[in-house]
Amino acid sequence: MGFITVDGIEIEVQKKRVRNLHLHVRADSSVYVTIPRYTTMKEAENFARANIPWIRKQQAKTAQKPDKEEYLLKEPELRSRIEVFLPKWEEITGLKCQSWHLRYMTSRWGSCIPTKGRICFNLQLADKSDGCLEYVILHELLHLRYKGHGDDFKRDLTGYMPEWKQYNKLLRQ
Ligand SMILES: [Zn+2]
Repeated sequence: MGFITVDGIEIEVQKKRVRNLHLHVRADSSVYVTIPRYTTMKEAENFARANIPWIRKQQAKTAQKPDKEEYLLKEPELRSRIEVFLPKWEEITGLKCQSWHLRYMTSRWGSCIPTKGRICFNLQLADKSDGCLEYVILHELLHLRYKGHGDDFKRDLTGYMPEWKQYNKLLRQ
């Protein structure tokens, strides 16, 4: 139904069958607000103004996030790095991964299905150092032995890779 500009940010206003006003930031960092039928443009504007810090934060996040396609180009290189490090850590730990694959994920670096011996690595590891990559490989391999992240899991992790906390910290940034 129109646009408002708040603090230099152009915001599309959409009337919807919703109860509350809600702001959205798209992947291209454009912003829209959905508002209930009887909400005025002025109210929409006030709402957006109150949430400017949130909008800017979301926009910064989307700007930093290179898109999936970019990572698909980096896939072969990451694949060959894993082909070097995975056998190395399988040998050290005596744990064997049955199959692995790469996937673009947003919330975690890897996952493991212990019953199938299947490990999934995040394509975004393509941007990470060998140390970080090796840590994720070791971490997921250890899930073939331990389900959670309990004391026994951490004891083994430290035993194999005393500096793992450093890598974990880097990956959380
Ligand atoms: Zn884990």
